Amino acid sequence: MDRRAQTIVLKSRREIDAMRRSGILLRKVLDEVAAAVAPGVSTLDLDRLAKARIIEGGGKPSFLRLYGFPGSVCVSVNEEVVHGIPSSRRILQEGDIITIDCGVNIKGWHADSAITAAVGRVAPDVERLMAVTQESLEKAIMACVEGNRLGDVGWAVQSHVESNGFHVIEHYGGHGIGRKVHEDPRVENFGPPAAGMRLKAGMVLAIEPMVAIGTGETEELSDEWTVVTTDKSYAAHYEHTVAITEKGPEILTIPE
Ligand code: MG
Ligand code: MG
Repeated sequence: MDRRAQTIVLKSRREIDAMRRSGILLRKVLDEVAAAVAPGVSTLDLDRLAKARIIEGGGKPSFLRLYGFPGSVCVSVNEEVVHGIPSSRRILQEGDIITIDCGVNIKGWHADSAITAAVGRVAPDVERLMAVTQESLEKAIMACVEGNRLGDVGWAVQSHVESNGFHVIEHYGGHGIGRKVHEDPRVENFGPPAAGMRLKAGMVLAIEPMVAIGTGETEELSDEWTVVTTDKSYAAHYEHTVAITEKGPEILTIPE
């Protein structure tokens, strides 16, 4: 449990709209990068495409040099969960899955989103992992209403994932976002429900379930970035940036 004082920066309508501009560019970039995923493509090819499109669209890649990260996207293949480093030597193969996690900054406002894409045809259990992870994100977003608590959001993910026989990767989670990529609060992908901080209009959260077929235990590789599942089971990861408003959740990383 994180017991340090939390600093929650609430956003105005204008600020939420500014973040949506970053989110819309980010969506275009992710769609284009996902369309480029194919056998024979390297993860560095995808990084270069994302960076070029972000800059052409008037943005900056939020992740480039964030904490020293060398890429504009995190590219995590198969048992890799998060923070994979783009590389010309990592060539995608039929049957792989790849998570592309990207952030865009326009005029100082960040948006953060991730998708997992299949490289050609993937095994049926992997396809189901991807579907269940994406559904768990949708359920978490539906729980992003004023008066609910952070534990309700986490429980929406956990209950859906576990009822489908998969496991939440508990060591990593979502976060507040705004002028900084990572703001308070941390958004866990597990419950208990009806516990934790109460959600308020003006909070903007990056919600990002990470789910494994196996145990959900992870370790970091010697590159000090790439996180993999300890049992080498495949992991999926989807993320949206979501504003909590009086009218309900607004996903800022898809067009209105
Ligand atoms: Mg992300
Ligand atoms: Mg994030």
